[in-house]
Amino acid sequence: MTELVVKPSTTSQTARLKDHFAQRVTNRARQVIECWHRLNTEHWSKQWLTEFQRANEKLLKYAERFKQQAHSDIAKQISDVLHNFNKEKAPDSDVIRHLNDLIIKLSYTALRKGDTTVQITSIPTSKPVYISLNHFSMATKLLKQMEYFGLRAKVFHTHDEFMKGFENRHPAVIVMDVDFGGEKRAGIELINNIQAQKETPIPILFYCHEEEDDILTRLAAARANGCEFYTHGLEAGHVIERVEQLTRITLNDPYRVLIVDDSKAQAYFTQSTLNKAGIITQVVTKPLEVLDVLEKFDTDLIIMDMYMPDCNGMELAKVIRQQEKYVSIPIIYLSAEGDIDKQLAAMGEGGDDFLTKPIKPRHLIMTVRNRGERARTLLSRMIRDSLTGLYNHTYTLQQLQTEVMRSEEYKHPLAFAMIDIDKFKSVNDTYGHPMGDRVIKSLALFLKQRLRKTDTIGRYGGEEFAIILPNTEQQAALGLLDDIREHFSQMKQPAHPTDLQVTFSCGLAMFNGSNGEQLSVQADKALYEAKHAGRNCVKVYQGS
Ligand code: GH3
Ligand code: MG
Ligand code: MG
Repeated sequence: MTELVVKPSTTSQTARLKDHFAQRVTNRARQVIECWHRLNTEHWSKQWLTEFQRANEKLLKYAERFKQQAHSDIAKQISDVLHNFNKEKAPDSDVIRHLNDLIIKLSYTALRKGDTTVQITSIPTSKPVYISLNHFSMATKLLKQMEYFGLRAKVFHTHDEFMKGFENRHPAVIVMDVDFGGEKRAGIELINNIQAQKETPIPILFYCHEEEDDILTRLAAARANGCEFYTHGLEAGHVIERVEQLTRITLNDPYRVLIVDDSKAQAYFTQSTLNKAGIITQVVTKPLEVLDVLEKFDTDLIIMDMYMPDCNGMELAKVIRQQEKYVSIPIIYLSAEGDIDKQLAAMGEGGDDFLTKPIKPRHLIMTVRNRGERARTLLSRMIRDSLTGLYNHTYTLQQLQTEVMRSEEYKHPLAFAMIDIDKFKSVNDTYGHPMGDRVIKSLALFLKQRLRKTDTIGRYGGEEFAIILPNTEQQAALGLLDDIREHFSQMKQPAHPTDLQVTFSCGLAMFNGSNGEQLSVQADKALYEAKHAGRNCVKVYQGS
């Protein structure tokens, strides 16, 4: 990305105006999302709540004024949730869950043109980029190029001007000359002054004239939270890429923590502490119920008391670890046990960490966030297929068992489909194996885009995929799958010497009270029928 070209606009005046207003609403939506996101990195407070509420009110006002129905619907729902919970207390798990769902919906409306739906959990920031360079023409050029990419930037020429701008609005990132204003390291000093006012420092991209480059300057820049230190000119493409990395907000699902403690008071304390940090919790005060709850509560991490009646924490950890699917869930003991020998013994029995009561809320939250993040990264390596990023065969089957149980409990219909690419061997033979891989990836991506967040998509085998559709009737599942089939078959896969078109066949089975294995056998039979019927079609299992 060296030369950036602006395309001449062909849109009419009114369309542009409409775009402009829509953009203003989108920016409001981003501010609401940013505010919500802060709860996942900081801590609940009344001030936070007030800001969140205010951001949402503004969104609602703008959305109504500029007739953005989707935005105003969501803003109204957020407002309802906020009005209905007790302001003296932190939000509870249901409120967090509800708000998070609404924020995810809102993030769909806050994408930029050209953002693909795959990146749905990451949205651009609403905050501007500030640029302060001694070379004014260089600064202006960078500004222009950022604007082509939809980033909002502002150029400042003097320290005073910069400080005024900063007090008015804090930026997401700053591009700063180390010698801004002319004096040696004056730019870094300016940054030090503003970082001192911030709880979380702003990321800085420093620019330094080659002749001024020395270790002391680099050290000072690093201390001022410099993320880059450019010396040989500023390459716009690179700067923009860095700004994107540093400013996109990634919406992670809230962590889900199971608290096992026979003391209701302790469990409640842990629960409310975690809720205040935007973490969803489930409490079990009867240790023997833990396995039942684990089946239903999708758990990232377990916090467990050491000493409980009926069985102690170590025994319970052993029982949990006996099950393959729970092997990687971190277990943290929370206990008044001060004896290091006993603590170490407990860790030997499948515990991952030991926290002693009384614990500072901040420590508890930090431990949960750190452990939770590591566990999620590890898990995703264990359960995902490396070519497509979809779930692997083992995990997909596990997930099917879980969904079968849910569907029995809630009496929801459950659909399971198997997809197999048609004549795939000939794709490999004609175009080569790497092209075959590309086709597999493109189908994976296509499925991800078309299906809901609650659906499970797995790579079942080489060119076979499995899809679990919870709470879906046969007619709806069939319609959806056939629509996907139709559209995929029309897609042109870029290849040499000519583009190619690929189709797939699909077998669908509805859960009818048997079990996961039966269901997958039935879907396989239906798939076989689809192949037999000439491929490029969807068949439903009709019973024997
Ligand atoms: P049909 O399903 O329509 O009956 O025909 P097919 O040619 O797709 O059937 P078959 O199952 O016999 O062939 C599947 C081929 O997929 C065989 C194998 O070489 C290829 N394959 C399996 N895994 C991969 C993979 O990861 N990458 C690539 N490029 N090819 C794969
Ligand atoms: Mg096959
Ligand atoms: Mg095949």
